Amino acid sequence: MRVVLATHNAHKVAEFQGILGAALPELEIVAYDGPEPVEDGTTFAENALIKARAAAAHTGLPALADDSGICVDVLGGAPGIFSARWAGHGKGAQANLDLLLDQLADIAPEHRAAHFDCHIAVVVPSTGFEQVVSGRWPGRLATAAHGGGGFGYDPIFVPDGSGVTAAELSADEKNAVSHRARAFAAAIPVLRMSVIPD
Ligand code: IMP
Repeated sequence: MRVVLATHNAHKVAEFQGILGAALPELEIVAYDGPEPVEDGTTFAENALIKARAAAAHTGLPALADDSGICVDVLGGAPGIFSARWAGHGKGAQANLDLLLDQLADIAPEHRAAHFDCHIAVVVPSTGFEQVVSGRWPGRLATAAHGGGGFGYDPIFVPDGSGVTAAELSADEKNAVSHRARAFAAAIPVLRMSVIPD
């Protein structure tokens, strides 16, 4: 059963295939190469749905899309959907991370709670089925960057129950507990019910 993943990122296709394919071997994740919609939603769920609907409409296939970011309590949940461009369009991951550290410079450790959030939308054009699932990885922001693994905000995110940042975890350690792993786990029964024929 082919399912299109609404991303042009080959790394994400491999990640989705690896995790979902292990649980649902009949699933073949294919990359989406059609036009990209404007992500003008105001939540992760809306943006994931916008991307999945566009891929489903263009290909006629069941579609999956994810949207994720980091949410900081003392910033009222920001950067949130603006995580990828927090320091401005085209500024990049290091500038985003530096700005966030600077904004929280005076904030005490007990008020630095944050979490990563991932929403995954499933859209099946043949039946009109739509559902969004999510996963959350709670933690807090460090006061300086540590570690060379991962990407994005990983060097300043200390997961709850861990003494190190997400960038100091191995890929396997991160993938066992991350927001994406938890959203994938939630997506599996939804895909089984909506996409896999009886
Ligand atoms: P995307 O929606 O998966 O492309 O993620 C949007 C942005 O959220 C990324 O550019 C990162 O800044 C941030 N982000 C999402 N997931 C992670 C993660 O696992 N580690 C670090 N940053 C992340």
